[in-house]
Amino acid sequence: MTIRFRWGLFDDDIYLLHASDLEKILCTAYKKPCPVPQGLKKKDLYLSGKGLNGNMVGSLAISQTANELVLETTSKHEAAPGGMGMQKTQYDMAVEQFQRAADIMRLDANTQEILRKPRRILSVNFPVKMDDGRIVLYQGFRSQHNNALGPYKGGIRYHPGVTIDEVKALSMWMTWKCAVAGIPFGGAKGGVTVDPKHLSKGENERLSRSFFSMIMEIVGPYRDIPAPDVYTDSQTMAWFMDEYSRFEKNNSIAVVTGKPIIIGGSLGRDAATGRGVSVTVREAAKQLKMDLKRSTCAIQGFGNVGTYTHQFLEEMGVKVLAVSDSKGGILKKTGIPFREVMAHKKKTGSVIGFPGSEIITNEDVLEMDVDILVPAALENVITGKNARSIRAKLVAEGANGPTSPEADDILFHNGQHVIPDILANSGGVSTSYLEWVQNLQHLYWSLEEVDNRLEVILVRAFAEVWKTSSSHNVDMRTGAYIHAIGKVSDAMKIRGWV
Ligand code: NAD
Repeated sequence: MTIRFRWGLFDDDIYLLHASDLEKILCTAYKKPCPVPQGLKKKDLYLSGKGLNGNMVGSLAISQTANELVLETTSKHEAAPGGMGMQKTQYDMAVEQFQRAADIMRLDANTQEILRKPRRILSVNFPVKMDDGRIVLYQGFRSQHNNALGPYKGGIRYHPGVTIDEVKALSMWMTWKCAVAGIPFGGAKGGVTVDPKHLSKGENERLSRSFFSMIMEIVGPYRDIPAPDVYTDSQTMAWFMDEYSRFEKNNSIAVVTGKPIIIGGSLGRDAATGRGVSVTVREAAKQLKMDLKRSTCAIQGFGNVGTYTHQFLEEMGVKVLAVSDSKGGILKKTGIPFREVMAHKKKTGSVIGFPGSEIITNEDVLEMDVDILVPAALENVITGKNARSIRAKLVAEGANGPTSPEADDILFHNGQHVIPDILANSGGVSTSYLEWVQNLQHLYWSLEEVDNRLEVILVRAFAEVWKTSSSHNVDMRTGAYIHAIGKVSDAMKIRGWV
């Protein structure tokens, strides 16, 4: 078979694509296992094109005839709708959302210029010794967007898709999320481009310690406080904290949050994001005169956020009719009791097959005829393509970035309300803040005390966002951005930065 490349319009960036990555791309394109064509094994392919940034699969058009495979880089503008074309990157989306709010609030040009980009991005390449004696060089990043309101704060993720672009976007969102929650932090995010499923525990520990030692000079309990994110957990935080403490020659437990309870973690952190989602739904329901005891709900994603949201909404009287996980969705019109579906998931590994339910797709879950929809799995699931089919009156974003700006406009125009991620899922970082405070004061609170403090933070945050959105007659996301950007820009002004 002949492999032919057609280069896209841009040629100012060079990316290295390994044969194994090509295999993944082909699998995705053809939706079946597809070995790398002969002759390419163990060879690296250089593809050029700015369009590759962020999403390799989305930026390649693939076509095949009997004896020719054409790999074509595409630019954003050439992208065919629904095809293999380039999607907007998360950073494009983050800047677009920022710009909308900045325009409405007539934010001065200097402040805009500063806020559009992170203040600092550290990119590191660090070696890790594998169990078989090989040394593998990994790449990681820490992006610090803005610290006008306090030390930087944000998670560190391990994922093969981590790019500098993604980390930049996520750090910007963290600035707004902390400002909306009214906690004294700025925004940061970090990540390592790695598939942790292929690491042994020892390799993971060596990678974690090595990465943290590389970013150590820019983190610290009063500088930048990382936390868990995708595929990192309390164990990862324990290694980070230990590595930092060795370096500092003291016990620096406040350098990270999301730690195990035994070394300074906070009670209530596990459930905090789902608890926060349910509190914001309750506050929105009051404003929208929705009776939660007569309301129905669908939840996409049945992990940490989805399950706790289910539990707390059910306690408020909401009937959950549909839930889903990566294997698909289920619908039961008489309601899906939380404890029963949890037990089923624990036993079988999925919600699928729950007694008395029918199987539906993940897309069906989003388009369900319910009052409340909670996307709690992936980003970019509500887009211009399906927004008109969303029937819920209220969408509470448990996940980060599930709704595109185009979909926001459609939903707002149709009178539907979206509680944006930077408000709806801010319960997690708010409890991280409470953990940090407990660490610094060496005094620990009961679960009840933590939950009560979280409640106060979120009720106030919701009220402020609702007030700003109503006074500007904009959707809640734009309201939340206006509110957050206003706080950050005031702090920048008073500190003399602009
Ligand atoms: P998780 O890994 O615990 O759960 C993710 C769930 O999504 C799993 O049930 C998985 O089966 C499901 N899923 C995966 N692919 C799916 C698909 N195609 N369709 C439907 N479901 C699918 O993750 P989490 O901690 O619950 O995080 C979920 C989202 O919430 C992410 O966007 C995360 O960034 C965001 N978030 C999490 C927290 C937190 O404290 N955990 C805080 C803020 C934001």
